[in-house]
Formats: sequence, structure tokens, C-alpha cells
Amino acid sequence: MTNYYPARWWQTQESGKILCTLCPRYCKIGSGQSGFCFIRQNLNGQLITTGYGHPTGFAIDPIEKKPLNHFLPGTGILSFGTAGCNLGCKFCQNWSMSKAKLDNLNALSVSPEQVVALARHHKVPSIAYTYNDPVIFGEYVIDISRLARSAGIRSVMVTNGYIDKQARKEVYEFVDAANVDLKSFTERFYHKLTFSHLADILDTLRWLKHETSVWFEITTLLIPGENDSRDEIARMCSWILENLGDEVPLHFTAFHPDFKMRDLPATPSSTLKMARQIALETGIKYCYLGNVYDREGQTTCCPQCHKPLIERDWHSVHSNILIEGKCPDCEHKIAGVF
Ligand code: SF4
Repeated sequence: MTNYYPARWWQTQESGKILCTLCPRYCKIGSGQSGFCFIRQNLNGQLITTGYGHPTGFAIDPIEKKPLNHFLPGTGILSFGTAGCNLGCKFCQNWSMSKAKLDNLNALSVSPEQVVALARHHKVPSIAYTYNDPVIFGEYVIDISRLARSAGIRSVMVTNGYIDKQARKEVYEFVDAANVDLKSFTERFYHKLTFSHLADILDTLRWLKHETSVWFEITTLLIPGENDSRDEIARMCSWILENLGDEVPLHFTAFHPDFKMRDLPATPSSTLKMARQIALETGIKYCYLGNVYDREGQTTCCPQCHKPLIERDWHSVHSNILIEGKCPDCEHKIAGVF
């Protein structure tokens, strides 16, 4: 497979540079140059993507690792990413891929048909576009997810939500579920630590809720001193409730010192528990804790009668007593895809 796959979502400017319109960074890319994400390049006046067809490897992960707790719980998911990313998070937990160029990662050559065949071979019901941000290899996502859907296999985006309004309609056309990072609830954090903007992420979340049928959950990595104040968490939970309703699962996950933020401590479990309590008191029905051992914080309970329904430990499902997506005691319907 060629390394030079023609990109969608761009236009030529009067200056001769290419304007990439895939994400709100809107890079202006001179001849021979790459955009911020490394894998979209101006080659002789045409935008090409070097990520198409070039994953950096595959794994079968538990779907709880994405994390998705209300989408086919207890199943495996074929997972892959490419090199590069459209954000520049200083705390990136996967920087060896997101900050790498493809050449440095010995990327594979795998067609969309082969990705779907791999999922079938491993008998998994879904494919995750993950590890780095799949927005930047949107063309590959579209081709795989289209084929996967016709083969009865679901597609999952694990993403930062930083995507252009027009492009997202195309990238998500055959996507069934997503986990979207809401990395903080301040523009200061987004601007300083990720080189992006909070408003764009909130817009994607509202769009997913109100204009698509994509099942999605939200993840916030709590970083000590940066996004873990009571006030910020409370404002974020209120926004979610008001704009997305009470049934979008929210995951608070523990930070571990990494990349350019090695001088901070890991998130204490007391902070995670505090955040979960705020979410539940705000009215969010499903709130989970991740990157820690916490049975209570990882169990799905019936919001009506409080019976434990799906018990997890880290990424393992220990029991699932849902019957056709409902609580067996009070028959309350649990939001999600079961
Ligand atoms: S997708 Fe990449 S090249 Fe395009 S605007 Fe975003 S960061 Fe820039």
C-alpha cells in the first residue's frame, strides 16, 4: 500500500499553501511540509495522509479499557492507532505514538478489508480507532467503518473530540460509539496544556448527543493541581447534565506522571472518589473511576433501585445480571448498547 493516500478536507489558499480543514487547528501547510499532526502533508500542492493504511500495531483489548462501560460490556475489541496527534497534551499517556513520525514506528501496511478480516478472525464484535487520535486518520476510519458495518462489526472512536463541524459528519457516518475526552473545564487548561480549545470539544459533545445516534461516554483524566478542584468538577458535571442529560456515563481516571509532566504526583484515590461523589450528587446517573482498583467505583448500579448490575474490577467484568438491558429487579432500562 502506498504511503501517499489522497486526503479529504482541504483547500488551496492564494498563498499556495494548503489549508487543512479536518480539525479546528486549520493548519496552513507549505509545500513539502506537514501539519501539526505530522501525518498530513502537502506533496506537490496536494494534501496527502501518510496514516492511511498504516497502523502501528493491533491488540485485542477489553472494551472496558477504552473506557466504555455501557457498550457491549465484557467483550473484546480490535484496537489500533497510527502515529501523530492533533493535540499537544503535555501530560500525554501515549506519547511514544502520538509524538512519533510513522517511519520511527515501523508502521504496518494494512488495508481496510484486512482490518475487518482481522476482527472477524478474532471473533470480536467491534473495532476501536484509538491510542493516538483517530480524527487525523479520518479517511481510514470511514473506509474501515463502512466495511465493518456491512459485516455486522461495530466501530468505536476513542478521541479528543477536536474535529471540524463538516468533517465530523463524514468521519462519524458509520461509527457506532465513542469515548470522548473532556480533559478539563477551563480554557486555560486546554490552551496551555493541550494547545486546543474547550469550546470546540463542548460543541462536539453537544453534536454527538443531539444530532447523531452514536453512543458515547466521557473521560476526564484528573491531574493534581490542574483540573481537580471541587469547583471545576462541579461546573463540568452541571454542564454535562444541562447539555447532555443524565445518562451519559462519565469516567474519572487517575493520572500518572508522564511525558512533559513528570514532576506532578499521581492522582490520589481520595480525589477520584470526591469527583465521583460530586457527579452523582449533581444527578449524573453513571460515574466510574479508572486506572485504579475500585470495585465500587467501577460497578454499574441501577439508578432506580440501586441494585449492582455489572460488577467490574479494573477492566474485567465479574458479573452482568442485566436482562435485555434492564435491571432484573425493577426493570429499569439502563442506557447503552447491551
Ligand atoms: S488534522 Fe492535522 S494537519 Fe489538519 S488541521 Fe488538524 S492538526 Fe493540522
